[in-house]
Amino acid sequence: MAHGHMIPTVDMARLFARRGVKATIVSTPLNAPLFSKTIERDGQLGLDISIHTIKFPSVEAGLPEGCENLSSLTSPDMLPNFLKAIGMLQQPLEKLLEECHPSCLVADMVFPWATEAANKLGIPRLFFNGTGFFPMCVFDSIKRYEPHKGVDSDFEPFVVPGLPDQIKLTRSQLPTFIREGTENELTKLMDEISESIVKSYGILTNSFVELEPAYSEHYRMEIKRKTWHVGPLSLGNRDMKDKAERGNQSSIDELECMRWLAKKNPNSVLYICFGSFFNHPAAQLLELAMALEASGQNFIWVVRERKQTKPAEKEEWLPEGFEKRMEGKGLIISGWAPQVLILDHEAVGGFMTHCGWNSTLEGVTAGVPMVTWPLAAEQFCNEALITDVLKIGIGVGALEWSRCEQKLKVRKEAIEKAIIQLMVGEEAEEMRNRAKVLKEMARRATEEGGSSYSDLTALLEELRALETSKQE
Ligand code: UDP
Repeated sequence: MAHGHMIPTVDMARLFARRGVKATIVSTPLNAPLFSKTIERDGQLGLDISIHTIKFPSVEAGLPEGCENLSSLTSPDMLPNFLKAIGMLQQPLEKLLEECHPSCLVADMVFPWATEAANKLGIPRLFFNGTGFFPMCVFDSIKRYEPHKGVDSDFEPFVVPGLPDQIKLTRSQLPTFIREGTENELTKLMDEISESIVKSYGILTNSFVELEPAYSEHYRMEIKRKTWHVGPLSLGNRDMKDKAERGNQSSIDELECMRWLAKKNPNSVLYICFGSFFNHPAAQLLELAMALEASGQNFIWVVRERKQTKPAEKEEWLPEGFEKRMEGKGLIISGWAPQVLILDHEAVGGFMTHCGWNSTLEGVTAGVPMVTWPLAAEQFCNEALITDVLKIGIGVGALEWSRCEQKLKVRKEAIEKAIIQLMVGEEAEEMRNRAKVLKEMARRATEEGGSSYSDLTALLEELRALETSKQE
């Protein structure tokens, strides 16, 4: 019910289908069109893959009609009703499982009840939470040892205990539900998710072992669940159409975008995108625009469509005459960008990201170093992985976790400094070289005989053996 979760889930279903498995993607009427063309193309290529839609009970849960995706929420106050609607999918899903009786159910983290639904019918439920082992280890340690309770202020760093590296965070960088420790719908859901991990058959991760070897091992030891790496899932999108249409209809013609990039030197463009739904306030966009101009770098900047578009809105978040001055140097995409297509272009030499797990992994897979600007979710952990562990990024100095930012938080000077450090000079070259090594490892992991390829082979064999033992 959110792009960041649906995109890798669809990639995964397609991966299963390419390995000879019949895959059915369960979605809702307004989400399915976001990927139906891709699935149709797969079908034409002979893959056994289809979409099954279930009605999303938006109105029944107190949401406006047509509110089926996290990006359609206009206020964080709508989240509890959105979670309620998701909970109401349990019954129709159980009915579907009874009818289809699949060999296995892969369900995202937001459906903790899916474990019970599958278990009732003797179907193994595989847990998918859309993130990597590193953030899972960090959160597990924070939950166990509560190191954030031992510091005097929200901005005093603490070391996350028991991890393979010395990872430092501050209380202000933790999700509010951990920081405040208060009970609400979200904390209840988080507890149910933790419980469902323990009861599920195993965990699928959009990652590859070479990216975070110590952390997948650590997680296995601590959580004692079976785990399989199946990523990077974005690599399954091989042709131009797949990349261009991944997750949504692009707001720019992909050929126009490629033509623009073709005119630029290798590694000379910074790509900027803050994920699928986050919208910076106008004052912060203005600061970012000034930093981009001052940095002198070429850029492609994705800006989410502004929710309350006023006629003069553009003037409010761009300095006067910005677009004219940046002609040929900068391209603004208002809406949805073909991210993977852009990142994979040789002209792109840096990625300013909010560190969502998919974006993080897509940056790694494209071999581009990153300017990190985490905002919410587990993004501050992902920033630590990029900057402190992998050493392929530089932070802008984001200090506070917030799901819905209203204030200007990062100043032009800090943004400009990070951009220049990432794009120009010896340090930039070193980061780029490390990123290129990871890119190669990522590609190898998904090829026949590679680590993720072999993990999936092992999983499929295990599921087949389970199915056979049921029939005996
Ligand atoms: N994405 C995209 N075009 C956009 C914005 C996002 O293709 O204009 C894709 C991006 O490639 C990634 C996903 O949307 O696969 C965003 O997931 P991520 O985990 O990075 O962030 P979230 O949106 O969940 O915060």
